[in-house]
Amino acid sequence: MIGLIFGPPGSGKGTQAARIESKFKLSHLSTGDILRAEVARGSEIGKEAERIMRAGDLVPDDLIIRIVQGIIRDPKVSSDLLLDGFPRTLEQARALDEMLAEEGHRADFVIAFEVPEGVLVERLLHRAAVEGRADDTREAITERMHEYRALTASVLDHYRKKGVRVVQIDGVGEIDEVFERIRKELEPAP
Ligand code: AMP
Repeated sequence: MIGLIFGPPGSGKGTQAARIESKFKLSHLSTGDILRAEVARGSEIGKEAERIMRAGDLVPDDLIIRIVQGIIRDPKVSSDLLLDGFPRTLEQARALDEMLAEEGHRADFVIAFEVPEGVLVERLLHRAAVEGRADDTREAITERMHEYRALTASVLDHYRKKGVRVVQIDGVGEIDEVFERIRKELEPAP
């Protein structure tokens, strides 16, 4: 089972992804987390990504595709995956489809969170105060939202056209409430 999870910054995607991971026994793979770990380690990839991430821009497709390829082709990695933050562009989506096809897999579902922009900005500025993430400044937040709207819509359309189930989830509300909406969509009807 391969699921993809999409949501604008601050939509609660990371929190819900962790819940979906444990409930549906999927391995959660967040490209944002992987890149932040590379930055923290000071690796070559981290050095290349740091400035781009700080500005709220996307790292180059070939860089992120190589990282994901390395993980998906690793026989030690489970083939039940929840991909979070990838694919972000059509080029990444096409590369992912190819990688999965090589292994005889395909994306089974896509979850997309819907949250009004005003709620998102408020949540992100709160997170900036609590966690101090380098890309949670007002400028970077605005840039990431712009980038999300501009690019992700075409990725969702790509999967709709391929006949992959795209489930839109209202991301406003308590964590449990939002998770319940997801569970109802993903659990097979009794
Ligand atoms: P996230 O934690 O998913 O919000 O990602 C944080 C940052 O990492 C993004 O703003 C991008 O700079 C970078 N990033 C994460 N995933 C990708 C991706 N699939 N393509 C390009 N850049 C990415």
